Amino acid sequence: MPVGTHAAVRAQRREDLLGSGVQVLLANTYHLLLRPGLEIFEKFGGIHGFMNWPRSVLTDSGGFQIFSLPGSRTMREEGAEFRSYVDKQTVHLSPERSIAAQKSIGADIMMVLDQCVPATVEYSVARAAMELTHRWAQRCLAARGDSAQALFGIVQGASYPELRRESARVISDMPFDGFAIGGLAVGETAAEREDCTGIVTESLPADRPRYLMGVGTTRDLLEAVHRGVDMFDCILPTALAKQGVAFTSLGRRDLRRAAYRGVDAPIDPACDCYTCTTYSIAYLWHLQRVHEAQGWQLLGLHNIHFYQELMRRMRAHILAGTWLDFYRAQRDVLDARDSYGPAVTHVTRAQRRKLAERRGRYEIVAGDGVGHIRDTRSGEIMHPVDDPQEEARSLYVGPARLVERLQVEESAPLVIWDVGLGAAANAMATIVAAEDLARIAQAAPAPRPLRPLLLISFENDLDSLLLALRQIDLFPYLRHAAPHVLAVEHRWAARLGGIEWRLLLDDFSASKFAAPPPDIIYFDPFSFKTDSGLWSLAAFRELAQVCAASATELFTYTYSTSVRAAMLAAGFFVAKGSATGPKAETTIALSPRAAAGQHGRELLGAEWLAKWRRSDARVPFGADPEDPSWQEAINGHPQFTRGREACATDAPSRVNGESR
Ligand SMILES: [Zn+2]
Repeated sequence: MPVGTHAAVRAQRREDLLGSGVQVLLANTYHLLLRPGLEIFEKFGGIHGFMNWPRSVLTDSGGFQIFSLPGSRTMREEGAEFRSYVDKQTVHLSPERSIAAQKSIGADIMMVLDQCVPATVEYSVARAAMELTHRWAQRCLAARGDSAQALFGIVQGASYPELRRESARVISDMPFDGFAIGGLAVGETAAEREDCTGIVTESLPADRPRYLMGVGTTRDLLEAVHRGVDMFDCILPTALAKQGVAFTSLGRRDLRRAAYRGVDAPIDPACDCYTCTTYSIAYLWHLQRVHEAQGWQLLGLHNIHFYQELMRRMRAHILAGTWLDFYRAQRDVLDARDSYGPAVTHVTRAQRRKLAERRGRYEIVAGDGVGHIRDTRSGEIMHPVDDPQEEARSLYVGPARLVERLQVEESAPLVIWDVGLGAAANAMATIVAAEDLARIAQAAPAPRPLRPLLLISFENDLDSLLLALRQIDLFPYLRHAAPHVLAVEHRWAARLGGIEWRLLLDDFSASKFAAPPPDIIYFDPFSFKTDSGLWSLAAFRELAQVCAASATELFTYTYSTSVRAAMLAAGFFVAKGSATGPKAETTIALSPRAAAGQHGRELLGAEWLAKWRRSDARVPFGADPEDPSWQEAINGHPQFTRGREACATDAPSRVNGESR
């Protein structure tokens, strides 16, 4: 069901919706109650007459909006009370009032009023909301009376399996025409959502439709259909179209990327929608670039068509008995990168105004109350999924064993290179960890000296840090003197002593030769498509030269085959890094001296080498595909020829404690 919040699907004509085969639209009772108001629907004979829509309409009950929109509200046994965002009047919404409104709107399918809570609330809150939802479901059934309009019940229970089972049992014992799974797509992970969906569908009757509310991406639809769901509604096809994102048979395509600028092909070669049969990617890219409303409309049309077509194909495969093959083949094709974006953020008007600000080539985007830096030229977002501080700890500070390595008696500082300062997430996670350690050490009965820390951040453009400092609410880890002082003086030292932070404001290609050689490198610039120069074979060869005499470990978020090939060809040893957020793996590069020590890292082995030989991405970035030197360097790399045990026992530990 495309979402027609205000009795219209954003930027879409009814003819195009009908042409895509849309059977049901979703409209929002809460919004329609406030504007245009129920008397208008009564005058026009319901929503079908008002919007001249000949097919079905489902209305939600308003419960989700009361829960998700900012503003004051109170929940009582009787119903909910909230302030209208239109005229600030107090509005009462009870089960009876919600059903009466949906009757006036004239929905073909009405929904019960439920109490929606975030999937992550504590058990007692989740149970209370579920029990209230059950009592309200009874009242909605009574309020429906003998109306011919269908009524669906809603299963709640947050992410507690026993509550979900109980709710599914109680709700499916009531005489509803269909059953919905509510309270998902509000902050839980994809895996939690899938588990929850599976638990509920097991307990629902097979002969009535099951509706997963507010979900989701094309891949979410596939996973939910696999678990027995029939119906969905989601704003993603039109909301992402506005951002320039298309769902296609080749996965998700982001038209903000410069790579699409001149491409003379349809956005989806397998699609027969109006957009795909009429326009090239280059034209759609251009419309997006000049903020032409038609670009949004055309991409939205394609996305809705693609969703409808996906549902038709899934239905055909189920009927043909070929579902499992289809499901397995599509799982990797349909995009796995979830982007519900900010599910329940409360962004004030003042914040939104500030968010629109840019500085140089950067802007800030907010998701779940956390700020992220976006490069407006490439469209790339730094740390798009995780909380940047969480990622800094799990990908850089933790695996680099910072705390352990500062507790070594040693007068030469531990040198950390922070390549790609950005909004200083990695640098601040490092400083906070080092300061905590220093405070604990000083408070000890017999204080032991810690190894000094020298943190060097490399950045060619301070705009992203300055932008983040202006919006500190979204970057709470910047509430510390260090980033403010660094931004002005390019140097900061802790009053506790022993911690120094320097900024080298220049291109890394030049400044790396001017800095003391590193023990640890956080390699966290934008990706190849934005910062291509930093990921090339030539760049890693230079880096290997700088680290030649040191036991250096480099940590980076990517596990791209081309990047790993460049590292190996440059002479680094390459190991698997820990999983973080959506990434199953990351990468650690070790200088030969680090690899000769007791590093405890899991070096890539023969299996990776065999995969690399078959890979389309085997050529290191920036390397001449015909040049034999990098191929020989990788094929003959001691990491593969000597074997892991030999590497680990060749030399005594030089990673910890030994001075350069
Ligand atoms: Zn299309």
